[in-house]
Amino acid sequence: MTIDIVSAPELLSNNKFNVDEENAHIAINVEICRNCADKPCLYVCPAVLYRLDKNGDLSFDYAGCLECGTCRVMCQQKGIVKWQYPRGGFGISYRFG
Ligand code: SF4
Repeated sequence: MTIDIVSAPELLSNNKFNVDEENAHIAINVEICRNCADKPCLYVCPAVLYRLDKNGDLSFDYAGCLECGTCRVMCQQKGIVKWQYPRGGFGISYRFG
């Protein structure tokens, strides 16, 4: 028996996204995030959607969100000012095979 090993990015690329361009389901407050020393969102998001811009400020793009909720749990400074699931028909459709 052989087992095919598939990388995480390959698996994730099977998913389909319908991004709600009119309604971000997650929003951050850059001012609050600027004063957050640890910035756990940079390390815990499995989709790597949190990044630092050239000024060192947090930037975030909700397109590609896996809706796991990890950032919401790990954000201790309340820099995530909005977190909700996308509206019906939007967001990720998981495809496992
Ligand atoms: S819900 Fe999960 S995938 Fe989406 S931004 Fe937060 S940590 Fe990343």
